[in-house]
Amino acid sequence: MSHVFPRHCHAELPTAVAGDGCYLIDATGKRYFDGSGGAAVSCLGHSNVRVKQAIKDQVDALAYAHTGFFTTDPAEELADILIDHAPGDLDRVYFVSGGSEAVESAIKLARQYHVENGQPQRRHLIARRQSYHGNTLGALAAGGNAWRREQFSPLLIDVHHIAPCYEYAERAEGETLDAYAARSAQELEDEIQRLGPDTVMAFIAEPVVGATLGAVPAVGDYYTRIREICDRHGVLLILDEVMCGMGRTGHLFACDADGIAPDILCIAKGLGAGYQPIGAMLCSKQIYQAVSDGTGFFQHGHTYLAHPIAAAAGRAVLQEMLERDLIAGVRTKGAAFEARLRDRFAQMPHVGDIRGRGLFWGIEFVADRATKTPFAPHHGLAGKLKKAAMAEGLACYPMAGTRDGKHGDHVLLAPPFIMTEAQMDEVVDKLARATETVLAKVDM
Ligand code: PLP
Repeated sequence: MSHVFPRHCHAELPTAVAGDGCYLIDATGKRYFDGSGGAAVSCLGHSNVRVKQAIKDQVDALAYAHTGFFTTDPAEELADILIDHAPGDLDRVYFVSGGSEAVESAIKLARQYHVENGQPQRRHLIARRQSYHGNTLGALAAGGNAWRREQFSPLLIDVHHIAPCYEYAERAEGETLDAYAARSAQELEDEIQRLGPDTVMAFIAEPVVGATLGAVPAVGDYYTRIREICDRHGVLLILDEVMCGMGRTGHLFACDADGIAPDILCIAKGLGAGYQPIGAMLCSKQIYQAVSDGTGFFQHGHTYLAHPIAAAAGRAVLQEMLERDLIAGVRTKGAAFEARLRDRFAQMPHVGDIRGRGLFWGIEFVADRATKTPFAPHHGLAGKLKKAAMAEGLACYPMAGTRDGKHGDHVLLAPPFIMTEAQMDEVVDKLARATETVLAKVDM
């Protein structure tokens, strides 16, 4: 009997014993194509020689040094590479162990930024519905699925949620994309006015919404408008690129495609590419300066900040991406992958929407395409799709529709950047077979 506490208590899982490029191999020798890189993590596949060697070299040189006493070369060099390529005037990098820690750090930094006479002045955080920012209490509070927060609500900070920019579900009939982008961004302005502009410390959003909606980018000039609203009210803009960052959308940082820069940026997942747990919060020159001129002390910290082995892995991951020009490859492969997805899925009777950027794609399933009505939750469509895909030898990330019945089940695809054209065919074939098997049995 397994004593490991699984994510879902009754789950019976295969035992993964090896990784080979885009494949995971279980104890019976069965191979699974890693169609979502876990949760958009394994961007380089599972057996990258350079990253493995970097980890071995760092273990030999130095396993650990506490950041209260020392900095290290891998952390400094990784920070330099990130800042060299970061948007806007992001200037400092705070290394943590994962996405939730990066988001917690961002929320606390935003609180500490708005200080007068040594006292934090602003307390409201605005986030978006149907977002995911992590599972620690602060990040959970920011997340936009009410059902995730429900059981913990007495423990959570107050966060105010506005609608996401989600064209498929929210754009009115006849409304232009520009008009919709403007209406959607106006929600932030209205919420800031409702709370009182002097009380709002930050707005947090995922440039491309990942796990909860399935690769949904904003449309039109939504983010230009958001940036302008935040600037006008001195509200910090925190972009959570934990899932969509690190080249996944065909840009090193997803916000590059939107032409804006945040005040604080959160990354993780693809930064360590699964070889090591590492995340980071990047902040602007102005924020760093304000904190260092103020108390000189960011009141936060964890034992494993800027862990040297994790930083060495992150440095090797970025070197691989940049020197092999893998992100340009994400754009061209992304276009080829999109074409295959549309070709195979667009006409399926229950496929409502196919959306994404780069190698980050979501397929949303609905009971009725004309009305966009989702399948009722009792169908358990996402879970069945996951099971059927695993049986085919494809691991992909399913998500049930939102419990308010507004959004359908979806699968998220985030394959490794090294995927070949033949492997694209394999993924699409396996997913199509799994989908057809499941949909054939859905009792309408
Ligand atoms: N933010 C986003 C956008 C995520 O997708 C996730 C994880 O899926 C997190 C934060 C939390 O990251 P972690 O699971 O590494 O704590």
